[in-house]
Amino acid sequence: MLLPCLSRPPASLPTSPAGIADLLLSLSAARSLPKGQQLHAHLIKSGLLSSPSAALRPLSNHLITFYARCGLPLHSRAAFDDSPSPRPPAAWSSLLAALAQNGLPLPTLSAFRSLLLAGVAPSDRSLPSAAKAAAAISSTSLSSSIHALALKTPFADDVFVASSLVDMYAKSSQIADARRLFDLMPNRNVVSWSAMIYGYAESGFDTEALRLFKTALAELEPPGVNDFTYSCVIRVCSTTTLLELGSSIHGHCFKTSFDSSPFVGSSLVSLYSKCGIAEHAYKLFDEMPQRNLGAWNAILIASAQHGHTRAAFARFSEMKSAGFAPNFITFLCLLTACSHAGLVDDGKRYFALMAEHGIEAGPQHYAAVADLLSRAGRIREAVSFIEAMPIAPTESVWGALITGCRIHKDADTAAYAAGKLFETGSLSSGAHVLLSNAYSAAGRYAEAARARKAMRDRGVRKETGLSWLEAAGKVHTFVSSDRSHPRTDEIYAKLEEVERRMEEAGYVADTREVLQDVGGEEKRAAIRYHSERLAIALGLLLVAEGQPIRVMKNLRVCADCHTAIKWLTKCTPRVVVLRDNHRFHSFHQGDCSCGDYW
Ligand SMILES: [Zn+2]
Ligand SMILES: [Zn+2]
Repeated sequence: MLLPCLSRPPASLPTSPAGIADLLLSLSAARSLPKGQQLHAHLIKSGLLSSPSAALRPLSNHLITFYARCGLPLHSRAAFDDSPSPRPPAAWSSLLAALAQNGLPLPTLSAFRSLLLAGVAPSDRSLPSAAKAAAAISSTSLSSSIHALALKTPFADDVFVASSLVDMYAKSSQIADARRLFDLMPNRNVVSWSAMIYGYAESGFDTEALRLFKTALAELEPPGVNDFTYSCVIRVCSTTTLLELGSSIHGHCFKTSFDSSPFVGSSLVSLYSKCGIAEHAYKLFDEMPQRNLGAWNAILIASAQHGHTRAAFARFSEMKSAGFAPNFITFLCLLTACSHAGLVDDGKRYFALMAEHGIEAGPQHYAAVADLLSRAGRIREAVSFIEAMPIAPTESVWGALITGCRIHKDADTAAYAAGKLFETGSLSSGAHVLLSNAYSAAGRYAEAARARKAMRDRGVRKETGLSWLEAAGKVHTFVSSDRSHPRTDEIYAKLEEVERRMEEAGYVADTREVLQDVGGEEKRAAIRYHSERLAIALGLLLVAEGQPIRVMKNLRVCADCHTAIKWLTKCTPRVVVLRDNHRFHSFHQGDCSCGDYW
């Protein structure tokens, strides 16, 4: 039995069932926990809850919802258990909604099973909760079972039920099933469209997500798409760094006033930050009328990625003063900020602070600290830290150590870490490349070659380095030594012209990180056509002077390209913003914002 904390019953309680129900509903809306608990206690003591009277049955239902609204789903469960059986279908639906909406997928599914065992027919209210729980677990077989069950009810075509099934498939990485169902729906609402767009965005089908968004704009009846839909597509634009498209969607949000939603605002902050315009991101955040935790985390990530470390720390204090409790993402942002700036002591302080906020460090936090220590050259300390971890170190933890070893030319520790990494069963190309680079950096070329051979023997392929540039309304993508662009000849000619000027000014190619087993001149050729350089050369041709050239790269920028781009901005009046898979580099007049620490 549930024991609500009880002082005395409220002075002027309504006596009629309808009056009590109204009061419970208004307490639910206000999420007024103490008053609701007083009322609950009164209902228990007066025997009203256990009465078989039909007029009183809905009270249990309202109590279940009340506790769910207060974020106490287990209290909802207890209120359900205390209600006289057999429970009406409405009570089952309220219980399922209480559990599903409060992020308890397993209890939701177990309650759904009990519902079926009790002989209650699944309804248009209980099926969406079950689908939501299945989505959270993302099990293929479970998704199919719930879909099959829905088909046996009269609700399979109901817009809420079908939307929840689309969402379930989309979140269980069954995007083709989601689309099939979506196409079959006789009616679709904003939830169905958003679920499908979200599914595409999350599964990396960016083009499909954008295409569907366009259709949604045209097909949805007013009020049309909502803030969730907007934030999904803006996220697509930020992962693919489609600044022009993202800005035009921003314009759309402005016209429809959706830009004041904290969800849309947070996505816009990430968009501008990921596209390299930190000032826009900061301004947008400062002007947000309403912020949520996601918005604070977005601004922290932006500050960390752009190397504005002190600003990130200041934002964190501001965030706490504004009454927001940090979550695990917040700390990840702070640790990343420390790592980018080499602030070991601050990083350790924030890592320790997590426990004070009751947040358990996860694999990513450990990886961030390992990264911080090893980049700062504290290799021994990083090794001890990793060896003392209470959870098994993941691939990224060992990867961080190997990266640090490469920077500080500690090939022996790199080999040790690589051995440990291979024990985790990782088959990704990253580890072999990292190890090979660490050997090369320490001048141990034979071992570097062996590491690359091991990679080939294991059938691992190195991830292809890609760089892209959005210009003149198009995205131009390059691989290393790419000759497929229609303006290839001009690109290569431009690159050679600029490199001549750079060499005259003192640039000397640094070939230490080049993987190929080739001679000096060939090595030089291999790096001078790295994908980012081709993208920048096209930028020199297409981007108006005075505008920064923004290039994105899926892998870390190599040391030589980094040096070369610095020289390029010394010899030309250009600003180059390069985002690699680790951080932003803003090159200007021969310097980089990362301070050569990346
Ligand atoms: Zn390079
Ligand atoms: Zn840099």
